[in-house]
Amino acid sequence: MEKSLDYTLNELSAKNAELKSMKYALDQSSIVGITDAKGTITYVNDTFCNISKYSREELIGKNHNILNSHYHPREFFVDMWRTITKKKVWKGEIKNKAKDGSYYWVDTTIVPFLNGQGKPYEYVSIRTDITPQKKAQEEVYHLAYYDLLTGILNRNGLYKSLEKLLKNADEEVAFLFLDLDRFKSVNDTFGHKTGDELLRAVAERMSELVERDHIISRYAGDEFIIVLRKSSQEEAVEIAQKIINSFSIPFILSDEEIYTTFSIGISLYPSDGASKETVIKNADNAMYLAKKKGKNNYQLFTNKLKEQNKRKSILEKNLRKAIKYEELHLNYQPQFDLETKKIVGLEALLRWNHPTYGPISPGEFIPLAEETNLILPLGKWVLEQACQQNKKWQDEGYEPVHIAVNVSVKQLQQFDFVASVSQILQKTGLNPKYLELEITESILQDLACLKHSIKKLRALGVSIAIDDFGTGYSSLSVLYQLPINSLKIDQSFVRNLNSTNRTSAIIKTIIDMGRNLNFYVVAEGIEYEDQSLFLRENHCHIGQGYYFSHPLSSHEVQKMLVKRH
Ligand code: C2E
Ligand code: MG
Ligand code: MG
Repeated sequence: MEKSLDYTLNELSAKNAELKSMKYALDQSSIVGITDAKGTITYVNDTFCNISKYSREELIGKNHNILNSHYHPREFFVDMWRTITKKKVWKGEIKNKAKDGSYYWVDTTIVPFLNGQGKPYEYVSIRTDITPQKKAQEEVYHLAYYDLLTGILNRNGLYKSLEKLLKNADEEVAFLFLDLDRFKSVNDTFGHKTGDELLRAVAERMSELVERDHIISRYAGDEFIIVLRKSSQEEAVEIAQKIINSFSIPFILSDEEIYTTFSIGISLYPSDGASKETVIKNADNAMYLAKKKGKNNYQLFTNKLKEQNKRKSILEKNLRKAIKYEELHLNYQPQFDLETKKIVGLEALLRWNHPTYGPISPGEFIPLAEETNLILPLGKWVLEQACQQNKKWQDEGYEPVHIAVNVSVKQLQQFDFVASVSQILQKTGLNPKYLELEITESILQDLACLKHSIKKLRALGVSIAIDDFGTGYSSLSVLYQLPINSLKIDQSFVRNLNSTNRTSAIIKTIIDMGRNLNFYVVAEGIEYEDQSLFLRENHCHIGQGYYFSHPLSSHEVQKMLVKRH
């Protein structure tokens, strides 16, 4: 930016004359202005007046900072003055404010003119208008770093702001990870246009609540991240609470009152993570906890969550090798005909015996396997083991029963899932009618994609059961459309069963509906005799639960199977 002007006095007067004639030439084309040593404007040419929209009279005698746009930080001008007072030429791009409030950019060269003592007595600035280029640059920048829909920073913009902020942070920085609750249902009910409007309104309401020097960004879809500079946990909690409170007021969009809430996770840099990635991930984890705790609340990233994450990442690593190291096996839980009390089926349940943690519940490792896609090899392994075992029992002369295998949505979504089931059936020699695949009810929301696979599986001769029925909000019309064999009433209904309460009415309705649609109705989680009696009296076909039998090893279950005569 600087150029040294180390001239002798003689040279200087020659230079001054030269510059003066240059000034005349430039006057015709460029924006030229002259200030005295204090910055008071003493001369402006017509182009200067045109671009600044001030008349010559309005400018002369005023300090040059009349044009200050307050875009540049103070240091910018300090540096400029330091340079020109040292008799050096300063070059730079300045954003100025015109009289009507509009802004313009000028590429500026300021030349100090020196008096007889070699001191600057006036400064000549020669400028060119670069507003169009700057506007284009700003637009490109805006597109890259701002969210088109809401106008707040996008993920790239957030990362860019964080680079600077975290590098210079000498105090804690708080991260709030916010996820709208049930945003999908707003989209589904009111349409995407209203969904977009809601996101815009949400960003606006948040911006009003958070002071300007903090960062608000749209991280993805309905996820937002707020970063509070120099902030304690208490301050973060205060903001989170303020946001939650403010969302108890509905949004009015296209004449509809829409209520929406946030689940918020909070983590701190650097105490909860030494990089932006880790703090964001941890705030996200805390947000998941908020979801689990019933949504519309905030949670802090705690030591307990830290421990859970550690365990999760260790389990994930170990799960990859669990098949190879033979740490997995299947248990089988018998299913009984409630009328005849005979065993009619076995549900295969995966077990993992970890070398250091001991037995790990599928409730913990199945979701992990689903997140990491490890469910694909695991699911295949389970299916093959279960079919092989069932065929073995049949070959050994036991009365055939069906084997029920739980299938995850990830497996069903594989284009070759049906082919791999068919291949396993061929390889093990099990008749398809003795295989039942259990899919959870929540899968049915993705109906279009699954209908085809389910039909093909049925065509193979395999049965399909809807697991955990009653919890996944599937409508009757969905059940009509699918060639399903059985409904498994979710355990929670059976657990709360009491002959006079509402749950018993719900169970009766599910059984009636299932029977009318020609499904087998299965009740799981039966622990007591009165539950079993109630279900039998209300014509539920099949029962499964600790009352009859816990899940058993293959040796134990074999003792319960009946030899063919
Ligand atoms: P699920 O398919 O609904 O399986 C029934 C669960 O209820 C089993 O838990 C079983 O042990 C438990 N249970 C059975 N009777 C009773 C009872 O009377 N009272 C109570 N309180 N519980 C009972 P488990 O084995 O822990 O499995 C949990 C879930 O993990 C399963 O729920 C299933 O969704 C999933 N899972 C298990 N094995 C596999 C698998 O091989 N593949 C997939 N994708 N998921 C599996
Ligand atoms: Mg099941
Ligand atoms: Mg179930």
